[in-house]
Amino acid sequence: MNQVSQKNESLVVDNLSVTFGEFKAVKGVSFESHPGEVHFLIGPNGAGKTTCIDAITGLVKGKGSVKMGDRELLGTPVQKIAKHGVGRTFQTASVFEELTVQQNLDIAAGLHRSWLSLFTVRRFVDPRIEKALETTHLKSKENELAGVLSHGQKQWLEIAMVLVQDANVVLLDEPIAGMSEEEREATGELLHEISKDRVVVVVEHDMDFMRSFADRVTVLNHGEILSEGSVTQVQADPEVQRVYLGTTAQ
Ligand code: ADP
Ligand code: MG
Repeated sequence: MNQVSQKNESLVVDNLSVTFGEFKAVKGVSFESHPGEVHFLIGPNGAGKTTCIDAITGLVKGKGSVKMGDRELLGTPVQKIAKHGVGRTFQTASVFEELTVQQNLDIAAGLHRSWLSLFTVRRFVDPRIEKALETTHLKSKENELAGVLSHGQKQWLEIAMVLVQDANVVLLDEPIAGMSEEEREATGELLHEISKDRVVVVVEHDMDFMRSFADRVTVLNHGEILSEGSVTQVQADPEVQRVYLGTTAQ
């Protein structure tokens, strides 16, 4: 029986709440993310976006329900959630800088090479790794140390590390922060590409990026959903304009 979830399952978050001591960071949030669309989760600093992703991936304890197909993720240990095909990236790229791109992907793919064999010439390349390198435009960098990659390329490597784990749900926390214009554009296209056969949820701050690449938007504010819909619908919502978009909502 395959441990990883079936392709084309949606992520269904229902009445998710997260509390830190007395403080309610996420208050009964519900949304659905479907394969085939890039779903943006936006909102001001402190709105609870990262906390939602942390709860979905098991890093913080959440109440309510988070389902992928029939599988309940809340209450499932972090490692198991990852094994079930839920992958994420962090606001700060977390790659092994002293290892090559290829070696980072080997580790992510769980190829259990001995530490020593990481430094020997490889004869066999996992097809998942080849595919991830191509999708993330890192093929030409495979033998470079991750530490010398640009900020954008490090984020792409993180995405590649999620892809080699056969993730059916990819959650990205502010993936384009610090990227050049060119890297942003390439990242948007990459997100669109990988969303074709998996759930992609992007936490983002950058409104121009959201406008260009979101298929669906959920706006959070003070731990609650303020608005949801297409870019056009969300931008037209007076509540969103008041709280978040300000004069940039056109
Ligand atoms: P966002 O990602 O939308 O900027 P976060 O999800 O990081 O917001 O944070 C939501 C709120 O929860 C903030 O007020 C933040 O200070 C608080 N918070 C986040 N993590 C913790 C924690 N581990 N302990 C206490 N408060 C936290
Ligand atoms: Mg955050």
